[in-house]
Amino acid sequence: MSDIIIVGAGCAGLTAAIYAARAGKSVTILENEGVGGQISTSPRVENYPGFKSISGMEFSDKLFEQACDLGAELELARAESIEKNAEGFTVKTEFGDYPARAVILATGCRHRRLELPEEERFVGKGLSYCAVCDGAFFKGKTVAVVGGGSAALQSALMLAEICEKVYLIHRRDTYRAEEKLVEQVGAAANLEPVLNATVSSLNGTDSLESVTVAVNGGRSEIKTDGLFVCIGQQADNAAFASLVALDENGYIVAGEDCRTSCEGVFAAGDCRTKQVRQLTTAAADGAVAALAACRV
Ligand SMILES: Cc1cc2nc3c(=O)[nH]c(=O)nc-3n(C[C@H](O)[C@H](O)[C@H](O)COP(=O)(O)OP(=O)(O)OC[C@H]3O[C@@H](n4cnc5c(N)ncnc54)[C@H](O)[C@@H]3O)c2cc1C
Repeated sequence: MSDIIIVGAGCAGLTAAIYAARAGKSVTILENEGVGGQISTSPRVENYPGFKSISGMEFSDKLFEQACDLGAELELARAESIEKNAEGFTVKTEFGDYPARAVILATGCRHRRLELPEEERFVGKGLSYCAVCDGAFFKGKTVAVVGGGSAALQSALMLAEICEKVYLIHRRDTYRAEEKLVEQVGAAANLEPVLNATVSSLNGTDSLESVTVAVNGGRSEIKTDGLFVCIGQQADNAAFASLVALDENGYIVAGEDCRTSCEGVFAAGDCRTKQVRQLTTAAADGAVAALAACRV
């Protein structure tokens, strides 16, 4: 039996592993895909304190190495369900059962994709899902934002402060965002709404050069250096719904203390209900959840 099982080897899970292992606990990390989580697909991270610039892969490798050196063990397996019992919990995977006294869920989330054929090829080459993360790379350039919710409008407004021109592409004729943001978008001189429009293709050779949008039955091309896809995020915690409370979007309900509705189970990082989903906040949660789990 491990003292603590951590589900997910992203920034939150690996930080939790570092804290728990340093506290002398036996730690098993279960990871479904590859170590590092979302950030391993990012070519450059420039907003994590202490690193002026680092690739997402190198960042993940460093975290993983640190966790392993401290004694945390990784098992490549998907946590399919969790049972509570007298000793603690049993995390079930297709390769077997993992018992533990406490569990930290650090399953992250995913940005919704446009589901266009060229999408994967342009990630990090003009295409981004996070203006806070990558906006600074487009200073003085032309960018487009896709989406019509508050997050998309906030991203467009943030980008309008540093970019020469921002297109805001939205599939309806009205936004689903806070009224104040809609007013600010209307007032921004360098922000051009492209309404009733959907992106139908991404174009470019080595990096993104333009997007084709379908508008009112026709098609037009928008030349742009970058495209920010802000059409929401998805959390996949259905497997744990009988153990912990989820909100309407599938995020695990937990506050700054990372405690869930089930005693002994903690949620850290992007998978929990929160406002800011970034590496720093994931790392902070990892520390908070681990220290709480050490006390179980
Ligand atoms: C392209 C890109 C660029 C970004 N750039 C930045 C940036 O510059 N700065 C910044 O601060 N943030 C950035 N972010 C956001 C940042 O990556 C996330 O906030 C951070 O990764 C969240 O960490 P996490 O550990 O909570 O989740 P994740 O990184 O999503 O990790 C969760 C892990 O859990 C695993 N998992 C899920 N379910 C299961 C299961 N049932 N069993 C086992 N394993 C499971 C997943 O495979 C994954 O590895 C970026 C995100 C993307 C996509």
